[in-house]
Amino acid sequence: MNTQNDVVALVNISTQKWPPRHRTYFGSLEIRTPEPGEAFAITPIHACKGIMDLGDKRTMEFPITAREIADDLVREINGDSGEGSFHGVFVAAGPMPTEAELAEAHRKLDAFHRRLVDAADLEWERSHNPMFITDLERRAARELKQDKPWLYDPKPQAECPACGEKIKAGVAVCRSCRAILNREKAAEFGLVPRVTETPLDLMKLREKGSAK
Ligand SMILES: [Zn+2]
Repeated sequence: MNTQNDVVALVNISTQKWPPRHRTYFGSLEIRTPEPGEAFAITPIHACKGIMDLGDKRTMEFPITAREIADDLVREINGDSGEGSFHGVFVAAGPMPTEAELAEAHRKLDAFHRRLVDAADLEWERSHNPMFITDLERRAARELKQDKPWLYDPKPQAECPACGEKIKAGVAVCRSCRAILNREKAAEFGLVPRVTETPLDLMKLREKGSAK
């Protein structure tokens, strides 16, 4: 096979971003994600030459086809979330994915998302604990546009008395206006000087008290 012309299309229908893939024979490769308005993105995969170490400083080059490389990448990306997991990447038979290939990928992605949502529903019924709901399950529900009670962060939110911004309960300092909301806690993390009362301070306090 002429490795120069050996290219296959790795197709991605998901908007999920993955870290670059690394292989000794091609270095680093970014898997493309569809731009807004695009139904899919193609990452061209080229054939490579592998180098086999034969020992005694002898090496042997061997060809790796584009299809082998693409299949390996697809297996790695789709398979990272347990049995039957699918994240929307596949190798097209031709230079462009066919309607049938895209429909099949959407069917598989939908089925995987539904399974994740079902698992999260079961978990929620059992524990009612959002800590046990995975990011993957939340993403699946959002992809299916399903509203679920476990999608929300149940931590009660309070308002900063200084600026009115929403703040998490129990924080020491307001994130938006830097107001100190809990002096003791802020001092604990070195955000404000610790209050230490010296005998002189106490004397001043007493003076103030008696001046009233
Ligand atoms: Zn504030």
